[in-house]
Amino acid sequence: MKAILFLGLLWLNLLHAAELRVSTDFDGGSATIDAIDQGRREIWIRPGGNPARGWPCWWFVRIDGLAAGETATLVLRGSERSARNNGKDTGKPLSSDWAMPIAATVSDDGGSWRQTGLGKRETDRISYPLEGTGGPLWVAWGPPFTPRETEALLTEAERARPDFAKPLTLATTREGRPVRALQIVAAGKIKEKPAVWIHARQHAWESGSSWVARGFVEWLLSDVEEAEQLRERAQIVIVPIMDVDRVVTGDGGKEAAPHDHNRDWHQAPHYPEVAAAQDCLRAFAAEGRLAVVLDLHNPASRDLRPFFFVGPPDLLSEKARGNRERFLGLAAGHLTGPLILDPKPRVTGASYHPLWRRISGQWVNDHGNDHTLAACLETSWNTRHSNTGGYRTVGRQLGAAIAAYLLSPGP
Ligand SMILES: [Zn+2]
Repeated sequence: MKAILFLGLLWLNLLHAAELRVSTDFDGGSATIDAIDQGRREIWIRPGGNPARGWPCWWFVRIDGLAAGETATLVLRGSERSARNNGKDTGKPLSSDWAMPIAATVSDDGGSWRQTGLGKRETDRISYPLEGTGGPLWVAWGPPFTPRETEALLTEAERARPDFAKPLTLATTREGRPVRALQIVAAGKIKEKPAVWIHARQHAWESGSSWVARGFVEWLLSDVEEAEQLRERAQIVIVPIMDVDRVVTGDGGKEAAPHDHNRDWHQAPHYPEVAAAQDCLRAFAAEGRLAVVLDLHNPASRDLRPFFFVGPPDLLSEKARGNRERFLGLAAGHLTGPLILDPKPRVTGASYHPLWRRISGQWVNDHGNDHTLAACLETSWNTRHSNTGGYRTVGRQLGAAIAAYLLSPGP
């Protein structure tokens, strides 16, 4: 009797439940939809990226048909397509770990993001719990950040500080999209100001790095005394998304063919935005004022603390080595949580990647000034704090560390 009653209720539920629909036809959208089980309210997907356009670990879907309070499950498996590594096809899929954060990121409006409950990992899949609100639900690997978010940040910066915040177009991509950036510079004696350059998303899937960039901009425009001093003192350029093309198409970017943005820093770059960034950095260096270049990324799934990647110390001048030590010490004193910096940097070199000389940080070391500081910050994506608030906090703390570095004289 009980079983009949249960089946009857289930049937009633099915009659009343709206059809679940999944779409990816928007900027950043990406998934292969394997199955939608309307009865069990399960949606089975894989990352949809083309491995020729980078590691297929990013995914981002819109789900319609979930009633307010109704629960469902998003079941994610890894891409089955053969992925590239070290510049060539490996003949096997990417480890699914890259695609499976401990919690998914979800939004009711496609703008404000929160984490789901913890996903349940089983063999080849992870199941994330969803709860409907009656409208569409956007669900992603991490908080998305597309050119729309860049544009909103630039517009807000110019509105808040019209006297020194100026949006600019760094380049037009190979696929015809603008790469937008923000320049912060106060009037007067610009050529005497130290130049600070920060870019994110050389790897398209690492959306958290753009949120770190946003946190830095928010801090820089704030009324914090050190932020005011820094924007008076320095000329600062921030590029929230370098690989705009693959961010828009929902591809991973890293290890894209023929190589990705962060293996493109040589004399004849493939990507116009890399060439344009090089031109700007060369100009700052020619004026002897290239002070700081930071490249923002997200690391591997097991890297639960942010850390810096830097080039081999023996390739630096004594001055640059000292500056780097001082900056890393200040960063450790400022990135104090909830995402806590691992104070020990990792050193890239020939054993890290065959094209290590073409990584942006190394190019800057090779083309910058004697005193230039270049480093890559990897901010953890697989923690409960790897959300918009946690990433923006890292950005604010990074701003305070840069201010401490530039505003106080070194030893
Ligand atoms: Zn990266």
